[in-house]
Amino acid sequence: MKFLLESNLSKLAKWLRFLGHDVKVLQGEINLKDLSLNQDRVFITTSRRWERTLKKLKMEYLVVPRHDWEVQLCLVIKKFSLEPSLKLNLCAYCGSKLKPVPKEEVKDRVPPRAYESAYDFTLCPHCGSVFWKGTHYGRMVKMLEKAMSRC
Ligand SMILES: [Zn+2]
Repeated sequence: MKFLLESNLSKLAKWLRFLGHDVKVLQGEINLKDLSLNQDRVFITTSRRWERTLKKLKMEYLVVPRHDWEVQLCLVIKKFSLEPSLKLNLCAYCGSKLKPVPKEEVKDRVPPRAYESAYDFTLCPHCGSVFWKGTHYGRMVKMLEKAMSRC
């Protein structure tokens, strides 16, 4: 799905990208121009202030509580019946599609321990971030499971 997130929801943005969704995060304050430029996206916000505008724009939206990314993620997944599984095909920082990369090519950008034991290395062609599956992958699966029990 395609989402537009309020600027203070960057952790939620990261997790929705882990699940493979197209996420755009607003820079700065919510404003009419940014909303109307992104009407094809579902807007996730922590405030009811823009409800009337969103209805006028016929923009789908969801209001989530502040400061608790687990509950936020849980509500978004359940409301839009998203599959709660990690796709890890998009860059967590900028949302670009990741490309598989031979680990030898990114050796100087990966901690030695991860280089030895991790697998499925990917590179973001847009911002240059490198990702891999390793010990943290199991932890992420557990974090997602825990979040899903929060709403
Ligand atoms: Zn990136």
